[in-house]
Amino acid sequence: MPSTERGWAARVAGLSRQGERRFAWWSGRMMEGGMLESRFRGGMIGSALGDAIGELAFRRPTRERLLAEVGRRERLVYTDDTAMAIGLAESIAGVGGLDERHLGDTFKANFSREPWRGYAAGPPTVFAQVEQQGLSYREAARRLYGGEGSFGNGAAMRIAPLGLVFHDAPGLYEKARLSAAVTHAHPVGIDGAAVQARAVAYAVAQDPARPFSADDFIRSLLDTARTPEVAGKLRLVRQLVLEAAPAQQAAQALGQGVAVQRSLPFALFCFASHSGAFQDCLFCAVLNGGDRDTLGAMACAISGAHLGVEAIPHEWRGKLENREAIEALAVRLVRMRGA
Ligand SMILES: [Mg+2]
Repeated sequence: MPSTERGWAARVAGLSRQGERRFAWWSGRMMEGGMLESRFRGGMIGSALGDAIGELAFRRPTRERLLAEVGRRERLVYTDDTAMAIGLAESIAGVGGLDERHLGDTFKANFSREPWRGYAAGPPTVFAQVEQQGLSYREAARRLYGGEGSFGNGAAMRIAPLGLVFHDAPGLYEKARLSAAVTHAHPVGIDGAAVQARAVAYAVAQDPARPFSADDFIRSLLDTARTPEVAGKLRLVRQLVLEAAPAQQAAQALGQGVAVQRSLPFALFCFASHSGAFQDCLFCAVLNGGDRDTLGAMACAISGAHLGVEAIPHEWRGKLENREAIEALAVRLVRMRGA
């Protein structure tokens, strides 16, 4: 409620001036907490829906066919992207922060329970090496791909909970690095994860009622990036957004692979080009080829975090598998902040 109304409510309640101030602070915190909760839920649910609907888009790659399929489905089933985002959220909430061993163990336990979620080869290889050779997760991740480590998009696709809960905390890059390192050791894989964490953090901190500056958004990502591979693509995203390039052209220019520098940039383009509309952001991300489920997960994590859960179609939310558990995790993350 506006501050004048808060003052009025406090006077009606018969509070002293000091009581009025306390009431105003308290109700402000409650409002802030409510909005933050909506955006945390939006980030987590948005990402899961982008993942689940993106997965369907591989076989129904037009808006009409995809909408018809989503309408037909009783449940929208997510893939490894969301399974790992859930693992990250569980671990952060479980230990009250980031703990490499706990995070790796949580990912591993979730994989063992549901290995059919469409995991890429990297994480299961790491889990097996930890178990069979007694390596740390970080060391096992370093040994992937001939000792170079993975620069796939797997660390970025799952990072929404970290971007949400630490959106105004110092050292976001280092936190992203730590969360990535259990499966992704390559500097580009880590950089992509840090940039996606920053994207979610930036989006959740912006008031959706105010105009959104795509340029400021991309500038903050450029300030975050530390590798030429990711920074170069971010500059191209900026140019394509400025030119209002068609999505298909942007997808081809930015890349359509599973390497993080060939997938994350197009997800960022889709959000930056459709920052006020969740559905348009989702269709942009999943209907232009490439790694559709992960593009949906990354773009829609940012969109949901910015717009809040109410901006996501109610029918889609209702069909999302494990929605209540995912929203409960989002609420646990908000409460960790004391909001
Ligand atoms: Mg997937």
